[in-house]
Amino acid sequence: MHEFSTAQAIVKSVLERAKERNARRLLEVEVEIGGLTLLNPEQVEFWIKLGLERTIGNNARLAVRTIEPQISCKVCGYEGEIKVEGDLLLHVPFYSLCCPECSSGEIVVKKGRECCVKRIKVSC
Ligand SMILES: [Zn+2]
Repeated sequence: MHEFSTAQAIVKSVLERAKERNARRLLEVEVEIGGLTLLNPEQVEFWIKLGLERTIGNNARLAVRTIEPQISCKVCGYEGEIKVEGDLLLHVPFYSLCCPECSSGEIVVKKGRECCVKRIKVSC
C-alpha cells in the first residue's frame, strides 16, 4: 500500500511549511485525498499522526477528506461524478473509467487524482 509513503511525504511537506513560517507549534493539518488514488484515508491519517509524533506537530488536529471523483465526457458532454463499484471483499473502491451516460472511455478526470495538503494552521 502507498499510504505510508504518501503520509511520509505529507508530514515532510507540512513540517517544511511550518518551518518556513517560524512556527513553534503545528496546530492543524487538512489533507485532501482523491477517490481515484485508492488510498485509504484512515490509514493515511494514522501514518501522518505517527509521523508527527515528537515533532512540533505532535497532537495537531488532523482532517483527512476524500474527494469524490469527477469526470467530463468528450463524447456526450456529461460532467459529474463517476460510478463507484466497491469490492466488498477487499474494501477497495474502484472506479470504472468510462462515462456513466454513454459508456465512452473518452473522458477527462477533473477531480479525484489529487492528494494534497489543503491547509495548515500554526502558532508562532
Ligand atoms: Zn458520455
